[in-house]
Order: sequence, then structure tokens, then C-alpha cells
Amino acid sequence: MRQENPRRRVGIMGGTFDPIHHGHLVAASEVQDRFGLDEVIFVPTGQPWQKGHTYVSPPEDRYLMTVIATASNPRFATSRVDIDRPGPTYTVDTLHDLRASYGVDVELFFITGADALSAILSWKDADQVFDLATFVGVTRPGYELSDAHLPRDAVRLVEVPAMAISSSACRDRVRGGKPVWYLVPDGVVQYIAKRGLYRNGPVEPPR
Ligand code: ATP
Ligand code: MG
Repeated sequence: MRQENPRRRVGIMGGTFDPIHHGHLVAASEVQDRFGLDEVIFVPTGQPWQKGHTYVSPPEDRYLMTVIATASNPRFATSRVDIDRPGPTYTVDTLHDLRASYGVDVELFFITGADALSAILSWKDADQVFDLATFVGVTRPGYELSDAHLPRDAVRLVEVPAMAISSSACRDRVRGGKPVWYLVPDGVVQYIAKRGLYRNGPVEPPR
């Protein structure tokens, strides 16, 4: 039987989203379904500290592409918390800010890909983040999904339909004059063209 006032279950999908692609959207949709989440909030990073060496598109462009990509799903939303906070983005701040805006009656699930999951322990305040949210590690083609070294009860692993798409590959394709149709949502294809994003970007090392 359903409780009278069940805690709101909210997923958080953090990312650079430069640009957002169908790999992000499928992962979020799968976790939403698996964990019965009321909503998934996409949170584009401010200045990404782990990508300090490479060029990242302006936050406002990444935010708008994320809004365009999530608008049609009633369970998806996009938040400005990270792009409006000055300085580099730390997940501990994201979790604190979202918890504060929802109040205490919320259960947070932080969704992260296999590549990002392995880096979690290097995060600032790594211990604290596990108290603020359940971490959901999702599979990603080309990366091993493992929770070794991570606190066992704080991380859940989920297999999602494999989408061998990365933002860097999308940027490369645009720079090389190749289409990104069907790799990113239609509105994002059009936004990239309208703003002339990625056309003259730096050549990036393969990932
Ligand atoms: P870049 O190539 O610039 O690093 P990206 O494709 O990795 O971009 P991010 O914005 O860095 O995208 O990723 C945000 C989150 O989404 C990360 O946790 C990442 O692991 C996850 N993710 C990205 N692409 C996929 C995918 N194809 N399948 C599953 N998870 C993904
Ligand atoms: Mg990445």
C-alpha cells in the first residue's frame, strides 16, 4: 500500500552537457523507471574543474541545450544551480543546494556514468556526498562499471541500453562537417547550427 506522504524521489543527472546527447537521456530515463523517481533534474556544470584544460562552451548555451532536450519529458527538468554558483562545480555543493530547495522530505539519487563513478573518490568531500544521495552508476560502452573501493550501500549499479555516444564525438563530428542528427535531440542539432557551436573548436585527444 502507498504511504500517505511518500518522500519525493529525485534523480540528479550532472554533466557538462556540451552538448547533451541521447546517451545522457536514455541513462536518465532508465534510472527514472528503475527507481520509480518522481523526476530527474539535469544539472549542467558551471566551470568544470575536471575539464579545466579544455575549452568548454558557455554555460548559457549548455543550459539551453539541456532545457531543449529535456522539455518534452514531464519527468525531466533542468536546473541552473551549478551555472549560477561562481567557481568550479563540486557535487557536494550541487547536492546541498538541491536538498535546500526541496526541503528535507526528498530522497536524492545522483546518476553517474561508469567513467565518472571511478573518479568519485577523488572528489572534494567524497565521504559527505554519500550521506546526501544514493549514487547510481550506469553502464557506458567502453568503460568498466565497478563499485570497487566505493561504499557498498551508497552505490547502486544499473545496466542501461548501450549508447556509444559521447559529447566529444559529437563535437568532433560538427567540426568535421558530419551530421549529429539522431545522436542528439533534433532541437539540439538546430541550436548547435544556429549558434555555430563546435565549428572551430580545438582538436581533442581521443577518449
Ligand atoms: P565528454 O565527451 O565531453 O566528456 P560526455 O559524453 O562524457 O562528454 P558528460 O557531460 O561528461 O558527457 O557526462 C555527464 C554524465 O553522463 C557522466 O556521468 C557520464 O558518465 C554520463 N554519460 C555520458 N555519456 C553516456 C552514455 N553514452 N551512456 C551512459 N552514460 C553516459
Ligand atoms: Mg565525459
